[in-house]
Amino acid sequence: MKSIAFFDITRAHSEIRDGLDAAFASVVGSGYFIQGAALARFEEEFAKYCGTQHAIGVGNGLDALTLILRGYGIGPGDEVIVPSQTFIATWLAVSACGATPVSADIELNSFNLDPRAVASRITTRSRAIMAVHLFGQPADMGALGILARRHGLYLIEDAAQAHGAEEAGIRAGALGDAAGFSFYPTKNLGALGDGGAITTNDYDLAQRIRRLRNYGSDVKYIHEEAGTNSRLDELQAALLSVKLARLEEKVVRRNEIAARFQHSMQGLPGIHPPTIGENKRSAWHLYVIRCEKRDDFQRELTAMGVQTLIHYPIPPGRQAPYRDGFDSKNSTNGDVAAAECLSLPLWPEMTDDEVAFVINAVQEVAIKLSTPQAQLKAMP
Ligand SMILES: *Cc1c(COP(=O)(O)O)cnc(C)c1O
Repeated sequence: MKSIAFFDITRAHSEIRDGLDAAFASVVGSGYFIQGAALARFEEEFAKYCGTQHAIGVGNGLDALTLILRGYGIGPGDEVIVPSQTFIATWLAVSACGATPVSADIELNSFNLDPRAVASRITTRSRAIMAVHLFGQPADMGALGILARRHGLYLIEDAAQAHGAEEAGIRAGALGDAAGFSFYPTKNLGALGDGGAITTNDYDLAQRIRRLRNYGSDVKYIHEEAGTNSRLDELQAALLSVKLARLEEKVVRRNEIAARFQHSMQGLPGIHPPTIGENKRSAWHLYVIRCEKRDDFQRELTAMGVQTLIHYPIPPGRQAPYRDGFDSKNSTNGDVAAAECLSLPLWPEMTDDEVAFVINAVQEVAIKLSTPQAQLKAMP
């Protein structure tokens, strides 16, 4: 039976195998593995791609977000507003610097922060809004930017899923005061291991984060503050440069596949395809629909050979570190999203036939699981 994997990284790597091998050989030959020329080069290229003045490579996406908060001096007693539904790292970054994550609900159509919910959660302790571009679609950075300025808050992007996303023609990474990226292997730009980066136009923040990632030191063995060790190594940086050269082409292909999904899934009974804002380009890290009978839907698709995943079954506020005293009303839509979301395979190296196979399977399952009335309505 034909089957479609949720994701298969080996296809992308086989296209650029020679480049990856050459990058590996060059780093091995250089004998230099930490904070050298490959990192400097990747940082310059990635800043250019995002349209920012600075990019700082770090160990992973969680560290990228944590170091932004530490760089701004956010810590114990401070609050940072985070979305009710996201990968838990968004919340953990706030906890890691000693501050308190404050849940604001998402909008169901976009899966992103609802600016009105954010406004209702601002207190005298608020220092920042951490907007996640969930599944690759930029959050409503226009409205959030106005709120942030009015209340003197930093607007930080969790862009871990959004390499190549745009709002009003501006790339993720340049849409707030600072952004954290992840290069976890399955992300839109993935390393062959862990990696992350911060982008910003704020020179002082960039300098401080460069110091924090390297034991609080600018000059060897002089330590200005209690920093950490979180660096993007030379090997990962060199491999990422090879992959970055193709990122734009891959984001375009993701958009092509998503457009076909969007077109063929409108009006199907029992499912809600995602809504993308008019001034936005999603990076389509994930294609996530909502299904009323999600678990049945997933089981039927699996039986037809289409592998799916759930991002994410339990919102952060309901996880062990945060659930004591958590107020449900700040996660009404977050809970619905968790109960109904289903991620379909969407990756740039899928063939057109594979895309069509997924579409046909979804159409069949939607009809099969629907009521007779809905089936009549859905008939062409
Ligand atoms: C992947 C991810 C992170 C964390 O990145 P790591 O590199 O795994 O630490 C943070 N936020 C979101 C939304 C993510 O998807």
